[in-house]
Formats: sequence, structure tokens, C-alpha cells
Amino acid sequence: MEAELEHKYEVEVKAAEKMQRLTGAVKEELKDAGVVDEKGKLKIKGVSPKMLKKMKSEYVDCPVLGADTQFVRCFVCSNFQSRVRGTVLCKGNDL
Ligand code: SF4
Repeated sequence: MEAELEHKYEVEVKAAEKMQRLTGAVKEELKDAGVVDEKGKLKIKGVSPKMLKKMKSEYVDCPVLGADTQFVRCFVCSNFQSRVRGTVLCKGNDL
């Protein structure tokens, strides 16, 4: 049996009705994380364009930041442990 990954929070991934715009600051964060190509488009290894599109409309109510946060941002967060279906396992450290 697989050992449970260490995490503090299980955060539900929610779907917004519309795709959410990424602010400049978030884009920079994603660029630093290496998930944006030279044209500024989101590109994550092993994630299909269809999945990416879906991810862009998802968000989490982040317990550490105390605010809604786009899922792509959560995905590259240092607290991100893994995603199991609709739930993010979050390490919960201060950011
Ligand atoms: S991984 Fe980061 S963004 Fe996602 S819920 Fe945890 S602290 Fe918030």
C-alpha cells in the first residue's frame, strides 16, 4: 500500500464558471516555476492542452493565504504536495 504523503490540509479544488485571468505577478511566479513558454503561454509537462484549459478555470480556497487562489498557482506552490482527484494535499507551511 502506498504511504500517505505528509500534508496538513486537504483543499478542495473548485471550478469557476469562467477562465480566470492571470495577473502579471502570478504570470511571473509561473514563469519562475518554469511552466510558461517563451510566448507567455502556460505549458506543463505531461499535462494536455485540454487539461490545462480546465485547470485555468479551477481555484482553491487556500487555507494558508486565506484567499481564493488559481489552481495553476497552487500547482506550482512550494506547499503543493499532490492532487488526488478534486483535492489538493497541501503542506500548509507559511508562505
Ligand atoms: S499548495 Fe499553496 S496555494 Fe495550494 S492550498 Fe496549499 S498553500 Fe495554498
